[in-house]
Amino acid sequence: MTSKIYKNYIAGEFVSSDRLFDDINPVDGSLIAKVAEADSAMVDRAVIAANGALKGDWSHMPLAERCNVLRQVADGIEARFDEFVAAEIADTGKPQSHARTIDIPRGAENFRFFSDLARTISTECFEMDTPDGSGALNYAIRKPMGVIAVIAPWNLPLLLLTWKLAPALAMGNCVIAKPSEETPGSATLLAEVIHDTGLPSGVFNLLHGFGPGSTGEYLTKHHGIDAITFTGESATGSQIMKVAADDVKSVSFELGGKNAAIVFDDADFDAAIEGTVRSVFSNCGQVCLCSERVYVHESLYEKFVLELKKRAEALIEDWPDGHSTELGPLISQEHRKKVLACFAQAIKEGGNLVTGGGVPEFSDSRKSGSWIQPTIFTGLKEEASMVTQEVFGPVCHISSFSTEAEVVDKVNNSKYGLAAAVWTKDIQRGHRVSRQLEVGVVWVNTWFLRDLRTPFGGIKLSGIGREGGLHSLDFYSELTNICIKL
Ligand code: NAD
Repeated sequence: MTSKIYKNYIAGEFVSSDRLFDDINPVDGSLIAKVAEADSAMVDRAVIAANGALKGDWSHMPLAERCNVLRQVADGIEARFDEFVAAEIADTGKPQSHARTIDIPRGAENFRFFSDLARTISTECFEMDTPDGSGALNYAIRKPMGVIAVIAPWNLPLLLLTWKLAPALAMGNCVIAKPSEETPGSATLLAEVIHDTGLPSGVFNLLHGFGPGSTGEYLTKHHGIDAITFTGESATGSQIMKVAADDVKSVSFELGGKNAAIVFDDADFDAAIEGTVRSVFSNCGQVCLCSERVYVHESLYEKFVLELKKRAEALIEDWPDGHSTELGPLISQEHRKKVLACFAQAIKEGGNLVTGGGVPEFSDSRKSGSWIQPTIFTGLKEEASMVTQEVFGPVCHISSFSTEAEVVDKVNNSKYGLAAAVWTKDIQRGHRVSRQLEVGVVWVNTWFLRDLRTPFGGIKLSGIGREGGLHSLDFYSELTNICIKL
């Protein structure tokens, strides 16, 4: 029985709550900590604190000073690197190699990157003619948007939370962050790091809890919130948008995907296999950018299916701290139930199960975890749910195509539009096809290669707006144009 309690952080203080919920380790179902759920009164307190802080020093602090505080947060994460890794692994069960090389370093880097970028941006200036000949000068200034609700998912907990938090703070906003109820650990450590930097109280607040009928809903409904930045499921985005409409709050949404990988006949076969193993199974398929639809040219199809099957079956599913572990469990038993139901539906709709489809057998405490086998289907129609609905698990459907036009049509025939991977040695084709794909991010001959300056986001059900570089700073600031008659 653990005695650890993950508390909320409101107005510079760590506060518990009468309502505690369990934070469960998906590796073996053990209890990591109790988490203090923030009720509506605590949400009120956080919103009042953030609005108070907005009028104080933070938003008026010289930019360079504000950015220095953000760099201290990055240093603070690095100083407690192993604790962050342990918290992320406990909450998600992901391989430690993933947490050590992606989640935690990127969490720190987000603060450095946006602190550097914020110092370099400019605004517009226009000189204009006037009838009296004296002219006028227009210039725009950037102001903070206000109090921002940051709502994050569980798949890359620290990385995705800080990807929003860092630019929001860099632009002088005050923030109330709500991590996923599944992954409260690294966010709580981050609150400790931020507390130690001496950030003015109320600038950053952290609330734990669930979505509907809980902290997430109280926060997004609150009249004292100016903008909502959310990463999560498309259906949740739609609910939040309805709630946000009452106050016409600004929203930035990074939502679900049903991403495609296209393997052309001229692709480097080994690179395409290697890339597709990563794009389908990384983080147990729980990355919004993962490929769940794989389209392979008919000339390579059979060879590709056989090789991907071989590679999926060879993936090492093991304890997160194992040096060779490649695959961890799904985030929860509940999510595994949903993923297994998707597998069952695929079989009902006529799918051919190439490999996986079930739960791996363990003889130790992992029996109580939420493990699942890497899975491949073939033979489904384009309308089948496995080809149209996001699963968010280690699974793909592979089908064949014969022409470029046909595959572009198939990829675009989706409610989602987040990302795609194209495998071809013909650079002309790479450019031509990429332009035609209705998605926010296309990778050619690679996957998940991210330059933080580039626009990131989706179209259709996959989101609203773009994050990354200047796009993030634009969302988290309001421009005021000042027109001066000369
Ligand atoms: P989710 O929508 O269930 O939850 C995300 C967050 O929203 C959690 O903090 C949750 O508590 C909160 N929430 C849920 N309902 C709410 C409500 N009604 N009001 C306010 N807050 C609410 O998503 P998840 O299961 O945590 O994450 C997986 C999903 O996230 C997948 O669909 C995945 O594709 C998507 N995702 C997208 C991106 C992207 O960049 N596009 C990145 C990562 C994950």
